[in-house]
Amino acid sequence: MQKVDVLVVGAGLAGLHTARLLARRGLDVLVVERRRSLSSGLRTTGIFVRRTLDDFDLPEHLLGPGVRDVLLYPPSRRAPIRLTSDRDEYRVAHLAAVYEHAHRTAESAGAQVRLGVRYAGVANGVVQFGDAEPVAARFIVGADGARSRVARDLGLDRNRRLLVGAEIVHPIAAGASEPAFHCVLDPRVAPGYLGWVIDDGHSAHVGVAGYPQAMRAGVRHLLDTFAADAPGQVTATGPIERRGGPIPVGGLLRRLACPAGLLVGDAAGAVSPLTAGGLDPCLRMSELAAAVVADYLRDGDPRTLRRYDGDGLRTRYRGRLLLRRMLASIRSAAAAEVAVTMLRSRAGRAAAARILFGDGSFPDVR
Ligand SMILES: Cc1cc2nc3c(=O)[nH]c(=O)nc-3n(C[C@H](O)[C@H](O)[C@H](O)COP(=O)(O)OP(=O)(O)OC[C@H]3O[C@@H](n4cnc5c(N)ncnc54)[C@H](O)[C@@H]3O)c2cc1C
Repeated sequence: MQKVDVLVVGAGLAGLHTARLLARRGLDVLVVERRRSLSSGLRTTGIFVRRTLDDFDLPEHLLGPGVRDVLLYPPSRRAPIRLTSDRDEYRVAHLAAVYEHAHRTAESAGAQVRLGVRYAGVANGVVQFGDAEPVAARFIVGADGARSRVARDLGLDRNRRLLVGAEIVHPIAAGASEPAFHCVLDPRVAPGYLGWVIDDGHSAHVGVAGYPQAMRAGVRHLLDTFAADAPGQVTATGPIERRGGPIPVGGLLRRLACPAGLLVGDAAGAVSPLTAGGLDPCLRMSELAAAVVADYLRDGDPRTLRRYDGDGLRTRYRGRLLLRRMLASIRSAAAAEVAVTMLRSRAGRAAAARILFGDGSFPDVR
């Protein structure tokens, strides 16, 4: 039976980044991913915020043009509030290429990555897969997304509060539009969150996200309804791609680690409860996770794992959890019109700019 120091379940950004950092520390790391190709089954829009681009080395050619303008719309779609930054605040990544890049860098650091292998369970350090040989692992990293099976098997906390997000990606003619991020607050299509349109220089991404129990019409229907009159849309050409999946917004989970393993990324609830952005948090949490795992495997002291403390980190973003509750309480189009009207004031615009252009998308864990 193959033996490894660390088995990472899931080759999303959290899993690949953690694997790379652990392998760089000299550990024997195996990543398993149920998808057969990292370019298929994409879930995310791939909007990276300025803070991530400042702190992590994402190659320039993987990123679309900088976006400085955000337009906030009420349900009527009339008279949006335009907020403009003097810096590039967002860039949409060419996602398939980002995953390929993360895959290559994990492998060049020494990690093995096996695609088309589904984690099926663990007992006494022996991990079972759908139809591959079992592997003995000293430690497991659950990077298997919002509905983590690893979390369940290890008895760790699990995400309970989830939004469901979905989007359509249209190819567009280069230079057809000025890059801008359009956000529509409309509980009829996005109950508890928002509808968005953003372009990455090659494609326009049109999406919605909301609480599943409030999406009685179904996410696909709501997305198609929204797409029919979404703002800032450019004429679609060629085939379209659909993406989507659950987004945990209940905040970082409290119990994230035990002597058998720990959780990173969406599996850990590492998503901003307010903006629902998870790419920055998953990279930051992976750095802390890799440092803690490497120390723990060296000293074998369970107290080392206390440094990976969801409870402690959670307290740093109480404000965002509160704002999430407020966002979730906007149930009618009329209430959303009022909310956007309040944002038109000077104080409202300043608050919106702080959220959209601020430096605090997720607490720094380093
Ligand atoms: C529609 C949508 C749009 C979004 N847009 C943005 C955005 O623009 N910016 C942003 O910051 N965040 C965005 N998010 C959130 C962001 O995508 C996630 O927070 C981030 O991708 C989480 O990365 P991850 O590696 O933790 O999880 P994932 O990317 O979900 O990776 C988990 C991996 O585990 C694999 N896996 C699961 N179970 C098993 C198993 N049993 N065996 C083997 N493999 C398994 C899955 O196939 C998957 O590849 C969006 C989310 C959605 C749904």
